[in-house]
Amino acid sequence: MQNAAESLLGLQTEKSASEVWKECLGLIKENVPFITYNTWFLPIKPFELEKSTLKIYVPNNFFVEWIEEHYNTLINKTISQVLGSDGKLAYVIYEEKISSEEQPELPFSSNGSSTHTVQSKPRDFETYLNPRYVFENFIKGEGNQLARAAAIAVGENPGQTSFNPLFVYGGVGLGKTHLIHAIGNKILERSPEKRVVYISSDAFTVEFVEAIQGDTVNEFSSFYKSMDALIIDDIQFLVGKEKTQDLFFQIFNTLHQSGKQVVLSSDKPPKDLKGLNERLISRFSWGLSADIQPPDFETRVAILKNKSEVYGINLSREILEYIAQNITSNIRELEGCLIKLLANSSLTSKEIDFDLVKKTVKEVSTNKQVNISIELITKVVCEYFNLEENKLREKNRRKEIVLARQVAMYLSKLLTKSSLKTIGLHFGGRDHSTVIHSQTSIENLVAVDLKMKETIDSLKNKIEMRVT
Ligand code: ADP
Ligand code: MG
Repeated sequence: MQNAAESLLGLQTEKSASEVWKECLGLIKENVPFITYNTWFLPIKPFELEKSTLKIYVPNNFFVEWIEEHYNTLINKTISQVLGSDGKLAYVIYEEKISSEEQPELPFSSNGSSTHTVQSKPRDFETYLNPRYVFENFIKGEGNQLARAAAIAVGENPGQTSFNPLFVYGGVGLGKTHLIHAIGNKILERSPEKRVVYISSDAFTVEFVEAIQGDTVNEFSSFYKSMDALIIDDIQFLVGKEKTQDLFFQIFNTLHQSGKQVVLSSDKPPKDLKGLNERLISRFSWGLSADIQPPDFETRVAILKNKSEVYGINLSREILEYIAQNITSNIRELEGCLIKLLANSSLTSKEIDFDLVKKTVKEVSTNKQVNISIELITKVVCEYFNLEENKLREKNRRKEIVLARQVAMYLSKLLTKSSLKTIGLHFGGRDHSTVIHSQTSIENLVAVDLKMKETIDSLKNKIEMRVT
């Protein structure tokens, strides 16, 4: 009765699109798994309410298809509950418009007479792109010329070039990760509403295993299939992981078929990835494989010059050349040398002179490349605290377990190159903010508690001694 009276008085039409959608979301949330709700429904934003048709923004076509395929009944039921029996839903694809005059497409709505402009909306997932890795600070050299040029082309026209997938390979510390982040950053700079995600294949595997355990494999794979650009680092870690490869194969095909961009990096060319499924290897050769070679002397000097300016230190040509002559293997080491130089000079409040440079270069070049894994850290920490390793992955909040877990996360950040995301995933799927929290808690403890400092130092020693 009340409803009829309300609609007679025209009260219902006064509801705004966002009020209506909020009500719908409330109902949907009760009827779908949490991860589905987060992945598929939260990203949807209300657009407008026209009579009894609610128009909603969705990130791309894939969303519409997925929702219609899986949740059509629920959607229809929800809409009629909220808007009455003639309630309808229309999807508006939230595509990027290069020219601002163009209006968004309204492929599913009966009338497209709207005159609004597209506004950027807040992102609903983490892209894991490092904003510091951009093309502007990626120095061009002979060794990276092709890879860099192809990366720029892909960043400017994702999915539109023949470089799909773009496969960048080369040795450690040569700039693969920097370059593929730069692609993602460029895509978002030009089209902020595009869905771009970066993930290492290691983290991808961990997430997949968790999805299997949590029975959310569909959501997991749909999430990656919904991307405009998927960037996967260090694909060599998929070797030997059959199931992850199978799933990745499906995701790859979906993206490739719909003209979405895939970017991959590896330490070897596709054909040398022994233990990777042949059909994946053949897919990789559909696009472009570009290698990165170690930088030549001139490039090393240019990189050093650029980085030292970023760190705010002024080094003479002589010093730059000395470093470039003595550190030749990769760019990460060049960078490490500069950081160490900075640290040495600020610790001893000495000017950066040639003696200091020589001493630092010597330290850096004798520092053997260590290979510490999160697994090893977990093991050593658990032995120290006398705990079973799985305790660190559980949700257990017992004080000593929380401490051990925080110590392990802190050491993982300190001693490995793993991202916050990867670390979080290794400790029971915690998110990156938990890892940051652990890091700062332990740093604060170490600063005030001598015993804690000793514990950390001794753990570091134990870990370094066990590295093979
Ligand atoms: P990889 O992934 O190949 O091991 P990274 O991308 O992590 O290497 O590069 C190591 C470091 O060197 C990063 O800090 C990166 O910014 C820097 N670097 C690599 N190549 C270049 C380049 N051409 N110009 C500037 N910095 C570079
Ligand atoms: Mg890398």
